[in-house]
Order: sequence, then structure tokens, then C-alpha cells
Amino acid sequence: MRESIIRIRDVKKIYQMGKEEIRAIDGISMNIYQGEICCLLGKSGSGKSTLLNLIAGLEKPTEGKIIFHKKYIERMDEDQLADFRRKYVGFVFQSYNLLPTLTALENVTLPLIFRGIPKQERTEKAMEMLRAVGLEDRANHKPYEMSGGQQQRVSIARAFVNEPPVVFADEPTGNLDTKTTYEMMDLITGLAKKYHQTLVIVTHDLELAEYADRIVVLQDGRIEKIERRKREEEVDENA
Ligand code: ADP
Ligand code: MG
Repeated sequence: MRESIIRIRDVKKIYQMGKEEIRAIDGISMNIYQGEICCLLGKSGSGKSTLLNLIAGLEKPTEGKIIFHKKYIERMDEDQLADFRRKYVGFVFQSYNLLPTLTALENVTLPLIFRGIPKQERTEKAMEMLRAVGLEDRANHKPYEMSGGQQQRVSIARAFVNEPPVVFADEPTGNLDTKTTYEMMDLITGLAKKYHQTLVIVTHDLELAEYADRIVVLQDGRIEKIERRKREEEVDENA
């Protein structure tokens, strides 16, 4: 039996633009299971990023519930959300979002500082992570001294260094060439599988969805279909 780590129930996100209502997420219910690689696939504007941001607690739903383990994300205030993200969540963004004035090592160390881990241990863990992404020889480089692929490796190291139960990636290879894209996908999915983490990855590219255990196809803020790539015994608990 597979356990769900995140339950999404009747979620809507409606933006009011003057008189127009934009139904970015228009009634979505689904589960995300412990240890799976779940891909949110859809065309530009289908609501992928919005859904990811809602699940990650970066935005609040207009309606509905998002339950992470037993925590109701939509009921948390800003402090609780920040704490939640630090403890449970790692992010990989299309634009890397590294701090430009910090070195690769310092960028990877950041999440550990927020968790109050002592300096020596932080540096060791961050170096170990840089090694895992093949960048130990770039530890003292700043972002502008690295290629796009290298910067994304640093951001992957930063997302995983805390060993969060869930890693979210929004079009993580959107700015990379084809060869680097597959290297990054191998790296992200390999790390997630190795540490039994749950990975939620957003893409518009059907080929990248091949990496997923489950593909959730979004269209106009709704689920068009869910495709299971690998068969596993599971129980779908509907709340
Ligand atoms: P995707 O990531 O699939 O390209 P998004 O989730 O970014 O799609 O956007 C879904 C829809 O919601 C789009 O029509 C977009 O224009 C709209 N949208 C997203 N964010 C906002 C916002 N902050 N204000 C108004 N509309 C938004
Ligand atoms: Mg998007």
C-alpha cells in the first residue's frame, strides 16, 4: 500500500483581474504519494506553476484543502509557512534562484544555516552535496562564474542538502540545452530515488515526463487525465 504524503481536495485558485476572473486552478483533487516522482504536465498557462506553488505553501488557495501529512497548509500563517518550507520542502527553479554574491558552497549551505546546524557540519554536508552533483571543483565559484548547467547543479544540491521529504521542481531544465537537460533530469530523479524522497516536477515537455512514476496532465486549471507509468500496489484513500 502506498501512503499519500500530500492530499489536495477541491482546490481552486482564482485571480481577480479587474472585472475578469482567472480560474488558474479550477477544482483539483489528487494525492501525491510518498516516494513517487509525480509529473505535472501541461501547456503553458494550464496552471502547473500555480498548483505547485499552492502545494508548496508559496500561495494560498481561494478554496479547498491542501494537507501535508496531517498539516493543513492553507491554514498556516506566514511564519508557519516559512517554517514548514524550511523543514519539509526543497525547491529547484527554472531560473536557478541562486544568491549572486555567494559562492556555490555558500549557496548550498544556506538551508543548513536556517536549520541551525553548526558551521563545520554545514560545510561538510554542503561539500558532500556538491560532490554528489559533480561540482566539488567549483565550490568557490560565484554563479556568474558558472555555466547554466553548473548553476542548476548548485541549485539541485541546495534543494537536496536538507534531505527534505519533498522536492518541488518547476521547469528545472527550461533554460538548458538538450544534453544538459537529460543530465539534470538523471541527477534530480536519481537523488530523489536514492534518498526515498517525493519529487513533484513541472514540465510542458512530454519527453521529460518519461522520468515520472505518474503523470498528471493539466488543462485550463483542471486535471485532464492521470497516467501511471509503473504499476505498484496502492490504495487510493479518498477523504
Ligand atoms: P503554467 O505554469 O502551466 O504555464 P500558470 O500556473 O503560471 O501556468 O498560470 C495559469 C493561469 O493563471 C494563466 O492563465 C496565468 O496567466 C494565470 N495567472 C498565474 N499567476 C497569476 C497572477 N498572479 N495573477 C493573475 N493571473 C495569474
Ligand atoms: Mg509555469
